[in-house]
Amino acid sequence: MVTRRLRTRNVSLLERWHRERREADASLNPAHVIERCRQHITDLCRKHSITVTFDNDLMRGKAFRLRRAMSVPPIRSRWTYATALHELGHLMMPCEASHRRVTRHGHTACGECEVQAWQWAKANSVVGWSAEMQSNLEDALPSYLRHAQGDAAWQIHAMANTPLARRKAQLERAKRRTFK
Ligand SMILES: [Zn+2]
Ligand SMILES: [Zn+2]
Repeated sequence: MVTRRLRTRNVSLLERWHRERREADASLNPAHVIERCRQHITDLCRKHSITVTFDNDLMRGKAFRLRRAMSVPPIRSRWTYATALHELGHLMMPCEASHRRVTRHGHTACGECEVQAWQWAKANSVVGWSAEMQSNLEDALPSYLRHAQGDAAWQIHAMANTPLARRKAQLERAKRRTFK
C-alpha cells in the first residue's frame, strides 16, 4: 500500500523508499511487476475519472487537461509505466499562477509543470524508481530547458542529472573541502 504523497518534503526519505523497493522488486516475477504497474495506471484513471487510451503507435504520452484524458503507449515495461505516470502527473497537478510559460519558436510550454509531473510520477510509483524509469526522465525532461527559467531550469538539471548538474555538485564538493 502506497502512503507516500508528493507533499513529502523529505526527499531523502523518498529516495530511500525507492532504493528499498528496487531491491524488493528484484526478487519478484518481472511479469507480475509489470502487471502491477498496468493495474495501477488503470486504477488511478478510474479513481480520478481520467479517460486513458493505449496507443501502440505512440513513443511518448500526451495529456489533455480539459478533457481529463491521456493517450499513452501500452504499459509493457517500466519505461512505459513511467510515461503513463508522468502524463497522469500533468492531469493531477494543474499549471499554477506562479509558473512561467515560455514560448520558443512558436511552441509554448511550462518547465515547472514538466518538473512537477515527474515529481508526481516518482512520488506515486508503486515500483522502485529504476534506471530504466530514470532514463525515460533524462531523455524527456532536458528538452524543456528552453521553456524554463531560473529555479525551474535548475530543477530540470538536478532531476535529469545533466552534465551541468554534475559539474555544479562537483564544484560544491570542492568548495566544502577548501573551507573545511
Ligand atoms: Zn505550469
Ligand atoms: Zn510532460
